Amino acid sequence: MKSISVIGSGTMGNGIAHVFAQNGYNVSLIDIKVELLEKALVKISNNMDRQVAKGTLAQEDKEASLARISTFSSLEEGVKNADLVVEAATENLDLKLDIFRQLDQFSPKSAILASNTSSISITKIAAVTRRPANVVGMHFMNPVPIMKLVEVIRGYATSDEVTHSVMELSRRLGKDPVEVNDYPGFVANRILMPMINEAIYSLYEGVAGVEEIDTVMKLGMAHPMGPLLLADFIGLDVCLSILRVLQDGFGNPKYAPCPLLVNMVEAGFKGVKTGEGFYKYTSGSKDLVVSPRFSK
Ligand code: NAD
Repeated sequence: MKSISVIGSGTMGNGIAHVFAQNGYNVSLIDIKVELLEKALVKISNNMDRQVAKGTLAQEDKEASLARISTFSSLEEGVKNADLVVEAATENLDLKLDIFRQLDQFSPKSAILASNTSSISITKIAAVTRRPANVVGMHFMNPVPIMKLVEVIRGYATSDEVTHSVMELSRRLGKDPVEVNDYPGFVANRILMPMINEAIYSLYEGVAGVEEIDTVMKLGMAHPMGPLLLADFIGLDVCLSILRVLQDGFGNPKYAPCPLLVNMVEAGFKGVKTGEGFYKYTSGSKDLVVSPRFSK
């Protein structure tokens, strides 16, 4: 595989393009607007500067990596020579089904079509294409250039050959891939989201405060950050939608989202991206401050 097309240049898409380009692949980065693509290139360049400053990337390799990325606002143009497409567009079922119908139509017949979805069924996505054996999940973690894990998700019809090539490709990117089957939440979010939900329930029921809950998990379980802070970083709306996928997919009430999470999302308090969730984020300040709604 030489030519990789990445759909979506947001948080995940720009990281995925960065990692492929840095490892010698030609990348076609696709988004709906030229301004978004320009912003993504600046982000990739800034992130590579950080690697140069740390001594993990040579300046000339940075230039060469950036030169391997081309940008497209037309999906048809951007995927026509792809060996592999990694879709990292907004997490929305109808949008992804529409993108995969187009990918099936415009990419070479032999291309592997991968989705970076956090929670949507790979089997369902594959079913709208005429090549379900070539459709697979390639679930990178955020931030992509730093996190080692790739969850490689086999849909019901994904072939052994495609699974093995995506596992091998992930290793070539310096990642540690793990193969999992396609059930709601895969493995990462099936385990992570109930933990986050339980942390929110502990707050809602007054078992402990925000800092206390996060401290227990940080110091007691050696987690690098507490579950409430992590939820703020992921986005509370994203956490809610993944919990709904687990709840619908398994039909088990144990996945029902905590009413506090639902209220916070409905009120627009979605974590870091809106400036407030369990903590309050003031631009320019690095101090972690609990939201006044939860401070004692
Ligand atoms: P994001 O909102 O930062 O970026 C999504 C990008 O997709 C936007 O730039 C948007 O303009 C673009 N887009 C929308 N429709 C498009 C189309 N038709 N064609 C091309 N581009 C289109 O979202 P994100 O956080 O990068 O998430 C992308 C995917 O990665 C989602 O499926 C999400 O579930 C998954 N994911 C996210 C994280 C995370 O921590 N953010 C982690 C793992 C997986």
